[in-house]
Amino acid sequence: MIKDLSGLLDKKYNELIVDEVITPDPLKRGGDEIVFCEPVSISGKLYRLEEEVVFFSGTVSAKISTFCGRCLAPVEEKVGYDFDEVVYAGGREEDYDLIIEPTGEGFDMEDFILNVFHLKLPMTFLCDEECKGLCPVCGTNLNTSECSCNEAQIDERFAVLKDLFKDR
Ligand SMILES: [Zn+2]
Ligand SMILES: [Zn+2]
Repeated sequence: MIKDLSGLLDKKYNELIVDEVITPDPLKRGGDEIVFCEPVSISGKLYRLEEEVVFFSGTVSAKISTFCGRCLAPVEEKVGYDFDEVVYAGGREEDYDLIIEPTGEGFDMEDFILNVFHLKLPMTFLCDEECKGLCPVCGTNLNTSECSCNEAQIDERFAVLKDLFKDR
């Protein structure tokens, strides 16, 4: 959905209040996919900082669904971030480091939202701070069951000790 900025650029008004709800496509990040399980709320203010340069300052909030970075269990979490970005720079995009490509006299709101989340979301989510993850040897989920890989390592250490004492 393209947000039209022509009224701001033509100086019909100096600011434009934004209060919208949008459901973007899932955000792909590396091999992960972050799904928006509820519509994303975006609110804030578009304003002309100088001739042909429009800022967007506001907040996005959403409920996302992804997977635990340690045990791969599904995780749903509410997230919200403030942003303050240039969305239009009248051909001087390189001076302002835009996170989106302007489209005509506007910008694509869904692209903007995806890029804000791309920048602000933490690299990994956890199902729980205390998540024990998967056993790196056998893949058992250590939150719900135990495996004997650790014991085997301890047995090896005992075996070394036994060898040490063998000749006494
Ligand atoms: Zn986990
Ligand atoms: Zn194991």
